[in-house]
Formats: sequence, structure tokens, C-alpha cells
Amino acid sequence: MADSPARSAPSRPGAASTAAVAPAAAPLPAVRKFAGTDYVAVADVARYLGLTLAGATGSKKLTLTGRSTRAEFEADTRDISVNGVRVFLGDPIANSGGQLYVSRVDFERCLTPMLRPGHGIAVRPSSKIIVLDPGHGGSDPGKTNTKLGVNEKTFALDVALRTRKLLVAGGHRVVLTREDDRFVALTQRAVIASVARADAFVSIHFNALANDTRTSGVEVYTFAPRFQRSTNAWGPAETNDTEHHASPGNRFDHWNVVFAHAIHRRFVADLKTPDRGKKLMHLAVLRPLSCPGILVECGFLTSETEARKIATAEYRQQIAVALAAGIGDYVATLDSLRTPAAAGAAPTTAAPAR
Ligand SMILES: [Zn+2]
Repeated sequence: MADSPARSAPSRPGAASTAAVAPAAAPLPAVRKFAGTDYVAVADVARYLGLTLAGATGSKKLTLTGRSTRAEFEADTRDISVNGVRVFLGDPIANSGGQLYVSRVDFERCLTPMLRPGHGIAVRPSSKIIVLDPGHGGSDPGKTNTKLGVNEKTFALDVALRTRKLLVAGGHRVVLTREDDRFVALTQRAVIASVARADAFVSIHFNALANDTRTSGVEVYTFAPRFQRSTNAWGPAETNDTEHHASPGNRFDHWNVVFAHAIHRRFVADLKTPDRGKKLMHLAVLRPLSCPGILVECGFLTSETEARKIATAEYRQQIAVALAAGIGDYVATLDSLRTPAAAGAAPTTAAPAR
């Protein structure tokens, strides 16, 4: 089932100015096909990204480490650990001839942005205007907990207002897609961001599960890259929702993941709640964006214990603090990459790993 190896070139995420590819110092990993999907060896990814590989040949587990990064891989799973947080790859890790392989799309659009932000990308996005998007509103309450009498639209707006206050105090420019309890269509949210000339977009939500009062924790979503399905579309009863065309939001696949990873790490470190992972989904609110964007699920309104916490102003302030800190980390990463020496320079010397 493996084809002859070929050289991989990073596929360009559409026509965005952020898509310009700079020459890389290390050779690009060779590509093999497994079941019709392009894969690259984890060992080659380590060489390309300048990371150390640990794990014996034939082992089902491998670790990549850098100065301040670490990723753990295991054969046959999509659920891996990167820099201490749980990350769902778009394709399972393959195991062939005593070697582990990761899909080329995951290598380019998940691992590279998490382990070496900016690597291979010449142009950095700006980070001046942050758009916060409180989910739902007006006639759409979002998820509800009738027992506690709480709903998602109210908490999402409250967290957005708290986060704005923190960001503005930190010198950021912030625009909200709604500032009160009103209905805003999903596609309109991207229009508001575009009119505001947004540099980054965060949609704020809370989760719920039917007939489940125990599940709790945070999730962070990016729009699925072209040729990958949503994380939740892998079950035997699920429909494969892979899209073979690129959406506007796919122009920012690399930066979407840099952004998501920054906020995810803060959520997990600061909120002390279960890490349900960084996931992929074909989300309508992210699809039309003209800047990097993510969606955060800040907790479960159906969890007896978590809903009670979320219902307190103290915990919503903690969520806002974590969100603002994650946004700050993302901005700091971009700033560190936008030094004069970085312009047009080889990315290996311009992209400190975080
Ligand atoms: Zn929602």
C-alpha cells in the first residue's frame, strides 16, 4: 500500500499573503502513501524541525523534544500530546516497517505550527485588532441548563466583556461581534470581523451533552484543513465530512493552530479542568474568516460541578484571564517572529520554539 517515496513541498493554503513559503534549511520529509493519504516519517519530521527523536525503532511510541517543546506519538491513534496538551490529529499515526508516520497535512498544518511557529512561512499576520465573538444571542440561547436556569449566550457575552476589559488594559484593540443580547447570524460574524479589519478572531462558547451530567472540561477548535475531516466525524456511525476544496479560513491554517495552541495551553494550565483537546471542525463561523480564528468551548453547562463553577463570576473571570493571557501569548509569538532579521530570512533562525 506504500507508493514510491517522493519529495514533499508544502501545499499552499490558498492565495493569502501569509502563504508565501520560504526556503527551509533541512530537507523536506519524503512522502509515502498509506490508504491514499500522504504520510511522512516522524523521524524525518524531527530532522526537518530540528528536534530530537527518542524511541527505539520498532517502538509504538516516539517522543520529539526541542529546547522548550515536546510531542508524544503513539501508533494508530489521532490523540497525541503536544507541549503538555491533548491534540487530535486529522489522520491517525501510521506504523510501517518499524517506523511511525504522520500525515503530511498534520505535519504541515498541526505539528509545525505547534512545534516551530512560523517555520517555512515568510509573512506573519498582524495582531493589532482582536475580535471577540460571544456565541449565540437573542432568540438563540445556545446550550442551556434548565435546572440551574443558565444559558450559553449569557455566559459567552459575560466572558467576552471580561476578556475585552483585560485586553484593553493590556493595550490591545478589541471589537465584539455583539455587545448585548441580540441575534447575530453565523456568516454575519465574519463580516463584522472583516469590516473591523480583524487580525485575530475568537468565538466563545460553552458546551453541553444530552443525558450526561459528568463530562466536563475545555475544547479548542480550528477549521479543518482541506482533505481532513472533523475530529468528531471518525466514529463508525459518523459521516466523513472531508472537504476537497479550500475555504477562506484555510488560508490561515498555520496561524489558526499557533493561535489555538497558545490559548489551549493557558486554558489547561490555568483552569484546572479536564483537557478534552484541540480539535478540528468544519465550523460555519470560522469558514469565511479573513484572519486567523478559533473557537473555544470553555466548559460544560450540563456538568453538575462545572456548571455551578461557570455560574460564578469568579470562575468566568478566571476563564477571561486565561483567554486574555493566551491571546497575549499569541501576540508575543508573532512579535518574536517579526523582528527585522526575520523578514525574508531563513525561517530556521527566525522561529524560536515556544
Ligand atoms: Zn455554542
